[in-house]
Formats: sequence, C-alpha cells, structure tokens
Amino acid sequence: MSQILDGKLVSAKVLDSVAVEIASMPQPPTLAVILVGDDPASQVYVGNKKKACERVGIVSQEHFLAAGAGQAALLSLVEELNRDLNVHGILCQMPLPSGYDYDEQALCRAISPAKDVDVFHPENVGKLMLGEPELLPCTPGGVLELLDDAGIDLAGKHVVVIGRSNIVGKPMAMLALQRNATVTICHSRTKNLPEITRQADVLVAAVGRLHFVTADMVKDGAVVVDVGINRLEGRKVRGDVDFDAVAPKCSWITPVPGGVGPMTISILMKNTLQAAKLQRGEA
Ligand code: NAD
Repeated sequence: MSQILDGKLVSAKVLDSVAVEIASMPQPPTLAVILVGDDPASQVYVGNKKKACERVGIVSQEHFLAAGAGQAALLSLVEELNRDLNVHGILCQMPLPSGYDYDEQALCRAISPAKDVDVFHPENVGKLMLGEPELLPCTPGGVLELLDDAGIDLAGKHVVVIGRSNIVGKPMAMLALQRNATVTICHSRTKNLPEITRQADVLVAAVGRLHFVTADMVKDGAVVVDVGINRLEGRKVRGDVDFDAVAPKCSWITPVPGGVGPMTISILMKNTLQAAKLQRGEA
C-alpha cells in the first residue's frame, strides 16, 4: 500500500517557515491581487490567498475591477502597482472574464518580472528554461516541495508528465529536468499513452479529466502526483487519478483534495517573500 504525500501537512510547514522569516523582517512583504469581474470560483481563490497572507504576515491588497473594465484599465492598474515600491508581488486572478477583449498574454508581459509571483512573465519563464529561476512556478514548485519533503530524489528517475500547459505541464517538466530526471511530456496527441506512463518512476497527471489515470497505466512502486482538480456535484473535488484503484500499486501518491492543491498557495507565499527579499537586495 502506498504512502500519502500530504499536501496539507507540507503546505503548513512551508507557511510556518515563511511566517518565521517574515516575523524577523522590519517591514513585511506586500502582495497585490487583482480580480476582474465577479466569478464566484475566482472570488474563493482570491479569498484563500488573502487568508494565506494573513497567516504568514504578508500584507495583502485586493484590487477589484468590473468585468467590463477593459484591458486599458487593467494595464493601467498593473503599471501603478509596478511603480509602487511598497508592493512586492502582483498577480491577476485568471481566467479573465470571457466575452470581453482581454489579452492574458499582454497582461502577463505587463507585470514587472521582479513582482511576477505567478511566474508567467516571459523573462521568468526564460530563466526557468535556462535553469536559473528566481521564483518557482507555484503548482510545479509545490509538487517539488512535496517530493522533497518525502525524500524522493528525482535524479536519474523517469518522470512522465501528462499535460503540456504553460502553467503546469511545461514548467513541471523543466523543474524535473533541473533535478536531473529523464523527462517525458505527454499530451492530447500522444499515441500509446499507457505504454509511456507505465515506464514512469514518477507520474504527474495534469489533464483536468476525472479518473483519467487508471491502475493499468501505472507501474508497481511508482510515485503518482495528481494535479487535476475536477469538480463533482456539490462542493466535492476529485483528481485525474482513479485514487482507489491506483493507490495500492504506488509507493507514494497525492490525494485530491489535500495533495497538490494546498501546496500551490504556499509556494505563492514563498515567492512573495523571495520577491520582496530580491527587491530589497536581501536575497
Ligand atoms: P489545461 O487544460 O491547460 O491542460 C490540460 C493538458 O492535458 C493539455 O496540455 C492537454 O494536451 C492534456 N490532455 C488533454 N487530454 C489528454 C489526453 N487524452 N491524453 C493526454 N493528455 C491530454 O489544464 P492545466 O491548467 O494544465 O490544468 C490541468 C489540471 O490541473 C486541471 O484540472 C486544473 O484544474 C488543475 N490545476 C490544479 C492546480 C492546483 O493547484 N492543484 C493548479 C493548476 C491547475
């Protein structure tokens, strides 16, 4: 039977260490979060970020724009926050409202790379490619933190990532490569997927399809990391991995909820602290 990679526990450890460091600073870091529109799920995410800031001692600012405020107003707010020396991290809750002509790529380029705590700016993505990231992409960074906490060394392992998004799949693959793993990225056009996933020492699923990874796709003793968030009726969420069937085959597995999810926000807090230190010349 597998052991659980417990995201709640490890995330609490990360938050505690961030809080200790912030407590010793003369001035706490500040994170500015922008929410455009009134999507209920986005409101919950923004609320969770505020709570995490409160927990670690980061000052949080929330900036609300109406759904139809428009790209120019959004960029002008970003420029103001870029100039504000008291703001160390800036993020805009995605997705931006549909039905308007928002340009998410232009937004990512507008946020100052030094304050880009989501690590979406091309300069920061480039640094990640070069193997010299200053801030960690939040979700893949959270996966690494979970693996590190369990003492799982990626060097020489075959890491198979299912999903090639800019937010999860690609940066996950880059971080695993940096840890000297042999990396395979699979996606919607990959042929013979189960043949490839069965070779994985570490399998990371980031697809967004309920129970996509079945027991026959997993090698005995593999580490399985489930990034997927699939909402069932009501408030329940489940991952991309058929947990009950897959868990007995693995050495380690993340549950959903309580696995990767809580890690993402703790890395966001760690990034905000790191961004503040870099801006103050303390890192
Ligand atoms: P996305 O939709 O941008 O990417 C999904 C990827 O899955 C694509 O690259 C696609 O090629 C691949 N895919 C689709 N069908 C496939 C198939 N049949 N075979 C192989 N690959 C296939 O999604 P994303 O933003 O990368 O997110 C993935 C999942 O992770 C979602 O459920 C999302 O909600 C979740 N997520 C969780 C966190 C967290 O904090 N835990 C953070 C971000 C995303």
